Amino acid sequence: MVRYRIDRRTRDAATAEFAATVAATLTDARGWQRGGVRMVRDVRAPYLVVLAEPDEVQRLCRPYDIYRRYSCQNGPVVALNAERWRHATPEWTGSLPAYRQMLVNHEVGHLLGLHHPPSPQCPRPRALAPVMAQQSTELNGCRPNPWPLPTEVQLLARHDLPLAPPPD
Ligand SMILES: [Zn+2]
Repeated sequence: MVRYRIDRRTRDAATAEFAATVAATLTDARGWQRGGVRMVRDVRAPYLVVLAEPDEVQRLCRPYDIYRRYSCQNGPVVALNAERWRHATPEWTGSLPAYRQMLVNHEVGHLLGLHHPPSPQCPRPRALAPVMAQQSTELNGCRPNPWPLPTEVQLLARHDLPLAPPPD
């Protein structure tokens, strides 16, 4: 079981559904729970999923440089970039709700110890992209996908992955 809390540090309407979206994504039957991990929301939890403006995400992600654009997982903190939450990226060909689910599953995937897939991140044209592929930047001919693939679920289910890996 992984206990987490949610913090929304924005005020606009476009981000109003942040907490509900995160909670729904992390308990969805298509999500990481297929790998045997139960995500439980708890206000005293050690792990934090936070939505913040780019300058604050930059700070939360140190020593990573996210160029004010990306999101990150940094130790116990999953910091999601509010600008991406609002607009997705030009490279993303799916819907905005699907982008948000992908962002949550990708960064929480890092929290659970999963890495980006080996290159090429898109195994073949028109395949579903792995959720741990960097879909915000480049789909490389893959179809957008917010949910972990069976192979990614298997990786998680092996349970030998470190939780909340520190920066390397
Ligand atoms: Zn990543």
